[in-house]
Amino acid sequence: MKIAVIGTGYVGLVTGTCLAETGNNVICVDINKTKVEKMQNGIIPIYEPGLDTLFLRNISQNRLTFTTDLALAVKEAQIIFMALPTPPGEDGTADLSYILGAAKDISKLVSEYKIIVNKSTVPVGTADKVQAVFAANTSVEVDVISNPEFLREGVAVEDFMKPDRVVIGTKSERAIKLMTELYGPYVRQGNPIIFMDERSSELTKYAANSFLATKITFMNEIANLCELVGSDVDAVRRGIGSDERIGKRFLFPGLGYGGSCFPKDVQALSKSAEENSYDFQILKAVMSVNEKQKTVLVDKVLKYYGNDLQGKHFALWGLAFKPETDDIREAPALYIIDSLISKGATVTAFDPEGMGNVKELIGNKITYAIDQYDALKGADALLIATEWSVFRNPDFDQMEESLSNKVIFDGRNLYDLQKMIDLGYYYNSIGRTLIE
Ligand code: NAD
Repeated sequence: MKIAVIGTGYVGLVTGTCLAETGNNVICVDINKTKVEKMQNGIIPIYEPGLDTLFLRNISQNRLTFTTDLALAVKEAQIIFMALPTPPGEDGTADLSYILGAAKDISKLVSEYKIIVNKSTVPVGTADKVQAVFAANTSVEVDVISNPEFLREGVAVEDFMKPDRVVIGTKSERAIKLMTELYGPYVRQGNPIIFMDERSSELTKYAANSFLATKITFMNEIANLCELVGSDVDAVRRGIGSDERIGKRFLFPGLGYGGSCFPKDVQALSKSAEENSYDFQILKAVMSVNEKQKTVLVDKVLKYYGNDLQGKHFALWGLAFKPETDDIREAPALYIIDSLISKGATVTAFDPEGMGNVKELIGNKITYAIDQYDALKGADALLIATEWSVFRNPDFDQMEESLSNKVIFDGRNLYDLQKMIDLGYYYNSIGRTLIE
């Protein structure tokens, strides 16, 4: 099939590349000229495991091309995916200007039937709004459908190639037929393509992300309580996770959820409820608990070193909002950096993939280490903000040589408590008994 993908961010580029991988001809459009030039030259603009191989293979076989020319892409494509940003507006509602703007541009270019697929996360009613934009600008028939994306950064290729489910919101038989054909190769193992109406499909994505954010937040609160009553959150997690109704995943406490999706999606769903005169109380609690959770690691540092950190120097392992990505949007590490610096401290950080983006965002507010051990030189403590695998089993001898003090504040519970006692560390983690 001939496909166009508008927007080549984490979702658009993975979608375009993975659709090319099953033999489709995909043309990707972005307004960012530099990014498009890079991709035309075979340079991948994001870090996503496994994506580079597919990206290069499909470019070399001419199934995957990049352009800034929307008209060119629209002309050829039967199916047009929109994978555009939907950032929070000032009041927390999803900003639809990218979607509606692109819809307007596309509507002026169509000359025959197309399916317009919205992959972005958007509030209920957006498909209707986009359909209205087309109706206002063209008499050509188009089906605007909802197809929310559930991929996780860090395992996005795997998630796209073998999705747990594909959700498609449309009542158009013609669109159902084409989308079933398009997604067929990805659900060969029998995972479902779930068809529903547009409004239910749009809400499904917000419900999924808000449910997951709630699950994490619940565990963060259990962890905080564990510290007060002397329980171990790891034991509690294992104890409840083996109940199939609860499940083992998404039960790890930490520094609050971050990233480009959960914070904005929980907020947007809460706003959307409010606009419909519904008081979605759980979501309000989730947001307020999450704000507090962001401060837990720095609170521990202040409790240990006092409120004035002037002259103190900290090592920070992890900048990305989670492992296996270079995405730093709403990353807990950014909050940690700001707080430590505002108290007078200096920070040296290391992250396997996220340092470039942080440098672009905050420049030389902190220093950047060449590796994880380099970051520890002269540090009064190590703070851990992201659970990259390389941090899980470090060389503790080398760490001891570099750190000024054997003090670790671990926001990801990477190390065994007894081991840290044996090694003589002050080791403070989340929801586990404090040891000195
Ligand atoms: P992103 O910010 O990484 O990428 C958006 C891209 O769109 C950028 O490259 C930007 O230059 C481009 N763009 C903006 N306006 C454009 C226009 N008019 N024409 C062409 N290109 C344009 O965004 P993302 O993380 O890929 O998210 C896209 C959507 O998917 C959002 O609604 C998000 O909530 C949703 N989503 C994201 C994820 C994720 O893990 N990142 C997962 C599921 C759903």
